[in-house]
Amino acid sequence: MTSATASQTLHGTPVVPGVAFAPALVVRGEVSPEAIERFGDGGFADADAAMAAYDDASAAVASSFSAKADKATGAAHEVLTASAGLARDKGLRGAVATSVNGGTDLVASVRAAVAQFVEIFTAMGGLMAERATDLGDIERRVIAHLVGEPEPGVSVPDEPSVLVAVDLAPSDTAGLDPATCVGLVTERGGSTSHTAIIARQLGIPCIVGTHGIMEVPHGTPLLVDGRDGTVQTHPDPAEAEQKAAADKELRARLEAWTGPAATADGTPVKLLANVADGGSAESAAEAPVQGVGLFRTELCFLDRQDEPSADEQAEIYGRVLQPFHDIGYVVIRTLDAGSDKPIAFANMEDEENPALGVRGLRLSFGNPELLTRQLDGIAKAAEQTGTETWVMAPMVATVAEARDFAGQVRERGLKPGIMIEIPSAALLAHQMLEVVDFLSIGTNDLTQYTMAADRMATDLTHLTDPWQPAVLQLIAITAEAGKQAGKPVGICGEAAADPSLACALIGMGITSLSMASAAVRPVGAQLSAVTKATCEEAAEAALAAVDPAEARSAVRAVLEANA
Ligand code: PEP
Ligand code: MG
Repeated sequence: MTSATASQTLHGTPVVPGVAFAPALVVRGEVSPEAIERFGDGGFADADAAMAAYDDASAAVASSFSAKADKATGAAHEVLTASAGLARDKGLRGAVATSVNGGTDLVASVRAAVAQFVEIFTAMGGLMAERATDLGDIERRVIAHLVGEPEPGVSVPDEPSVLVAVDLAPSDTAGLDPATCVGLVTERGGSTSHTAIIARQLGIPCIVGTHGIMEVPHGTPLLVDGRDGTVQTHPDPAEAEQKAAADKELRARLEAWTGPAATADGTPVKLLANVADGGSAESAAEAPVQGVGLFRTELCFLDRQDEPSADEQAEIYGRVLQPFHDIGYVVIRTLDAGSDKPIAFANMEDEENPALGVRGLRLSFGNPELLTRQLDGIAKAAEQTGTETWVMAPMVATVAEARDFAGQVRERGLKPGIMIEIPSAALLAHQMLEVVDFLSIGTNDLTQYTMAADRMATDLTHLTDPWQPAVLQLIAITAEAGKQAGKPVGICGEAAADPSLACALIGMGITSLSMASAAVRPVGAQLSAVTKATCEEAAEAALAAVDPAEARSAVRAVLEANA
């Protein structure tokens, strides 16, 4: 390994707080050409020695597939088991041996043997042809073992490691185990990226948008601080151990928090869950929450071609309402179809710029029945379950839109609100509250539209940060309007899950915070450690800062000084 031992500090966008100290497990899509070049012909004494290295590498690949297969079910289990068999395949080994015995170096022999098998499989067609892709994957993994790099793609670490990658796909992150993946650092991705959302759910300290992280060699010891977004290479081991141990203790204390949420001096705060369907609602009901602050109804219909009837919708929504009957209220958001969440039966086709197009509430302008059928379904589910139901619209830009929506919701005996995701709505919060009963700030979109930076753009993570001063000012304006009107103003974007920011938000006058249920305990515990006055001081400090880094450190200083 060619790791430099000089310590270096890299900076990124912090998305999940927590400290981790462990070696880097660098995940690459491909084996690096430099490592292959360094390996060269491998310097083997003879063909037998080269084949022994091949046997070790292919056995390691096969057993890592088998280990994954053991943890998977259904089709994934079958595919992984078949890949394990392919890595052990005697025919493939024979082809490698023939090439090595002919004097070709080992890496080239593996490539030639795989190419030969790909040709055979492709000629067979059908299912066998599909296995050609798996062969390519096996080739990359075997070569990675030979040259001493981790397998391409996310592999299961043998020891606690910090996963380092350009970005991670949902399939990469689905099987992550917080026991072995103790930290996550990506070069790209913003605070609302898949990596961030999954890391938050699993409680893994995470930093995204970390420039230069992919140049860090595999195995480099890293100290990851998910509170301030720093990654230190080669830290002093004793100091790093101590910081990680202190953080572990703190997190264990946070996990033990059971609610209900209130500041240290007794100001109640509502902590709510974000849910996607009946299953996630059932598990959220086990968390110390007082209800659901955001039910993203569109997530129930992502693979639906035809619009469900009002009765079918009532049944689907009822599954979310039921578990909260004895806990609290549920805020149902009407369809937020469009842009990053296209729905076949709802969306406009071929828009030039879908994030600024006909999405969310705007779909009802040309198709009013889409909204009325959904409201009928919601009203029926509310009646059948008896659960207190609030209903809010996404992507509201004008007071007229809010008034019209509120009228339709009230006609059905439900409580109307709107999301604040567009700067115009935040600036008009006073007038909005004259026509609706509550507001819920969607900080993911509010940040996107305030900063004119696509929330999915991985190169703009410094802009898609809810700690941006302009975003904080709009939140403060909205919270102030709520205080004056005496009506609830919550946050349901990812910002609510950041324990430090949560304190500043409560200090601004926000009345509820809604988040993935896994994030609730750390936020509740942090709030219980500070007084309302400290939250107000944190809000002032955040609002006075000129950039996100200054805002974060100013709030942290206030919280630490008053701990
Ligand atoms: C938001 O925009 O902050 C929000 C909660 O809505 P979504 O993430 O579903 O767009
Ligand atoms: Mg949104």
